[in-house]
Amino acid sequence: MKEKIYTIPVTDAFRNDCECPLCVLEKKLEDDYIEYMLGPSLMEPDCRMITNEKGFCRRHFEQLYNKQLNRLGLGLIIDTHMQEQIKKLREAYEKKAQLIKKEMGLSLIKNISNKVANKASEAEKFAHELAASLSTLERSCAVCSKLEYTMDRYIDVTIYLWFKEEEFKKLFTNKGFCLMHFKMLLEGAVKYISGKDRAVFIEALINLQLSNLERIQEEVAWFTKKFDYRYNDAPWGNSRDALPRSIEKLAGYCNLK
Ligand SMILES: [Zn+2]
Ligand SMILES: [Zn+2]
Repeated sequence: MKEKIYTIPVTDAFRNDCECPLCVLEKKLEDDYIEYMLGPSLMEPDCRMITNEKGFCRRHFEQLYNKQLNRLGLGLIIDTHMQEQIKKLREAYEKKAQLIKKEMGLSLIKNISNKVANKASEAEKFAHELAASLSTLERSCAVCSKLEYTMDRYIDVTIYLWFKEEEFKKLFTNKGFCLMHFKMLLEGAVKYISGKDRAVFIEALINLQLSNLERIQEEVAWFTKKFDYRYNDAPWGNSRDALPRSIEKLAGYCNLK
């Protein structure tokens, strides 16, 4: 039996009538993690080590700041994260400083012969290495990695419940998922089930997803038709909020005004 701490929130989320129940789950987790970062995590040295190393992505820095929950706490997190990143940058530079300085005094002849030999200069190699490590930092985020871990548990539980509980299977067959969570379910099917079960699940999932993508695309199409005076008196149907729903279907939950 899968742990109840995972099965209960999953079942609750699937009771929502929405474009993606996994977005409901992830949004709730994200809010909890942001509050955790600005509160209890500050007392945990292990957590500070993680935030020093990973920092946050743009989305989560924005949420941490806009939450206006704990300015001092956020300041402390940023202070030590910056110290660690500056130290890393300085060390990387100091390792190559001599070589770069030497290159600064390179003669014209040497410059040309390096170019002909297609030899990467030290400054060029240094810039590439540094850019690569900055790209890694850009992609790393203490909140995203916690989210990824727990969402993976939830995906596992979702697939488990789909096979085990008839009631859950009915809840599952609602409006499909956003593309991001559709992808996670496909990856989960490869990771957590095999053989006949995998084929059965993927077949059900793709049919559910396709019919719901077509449904929402038609709702958006109707939304655009309503701008034509000839359709002035035609009923809106479900299309009034088709725009935000279709964006969330494509991109996952967002902070649309
Ligand atoms: Zn989603
Ligand atoms: Zn993030």
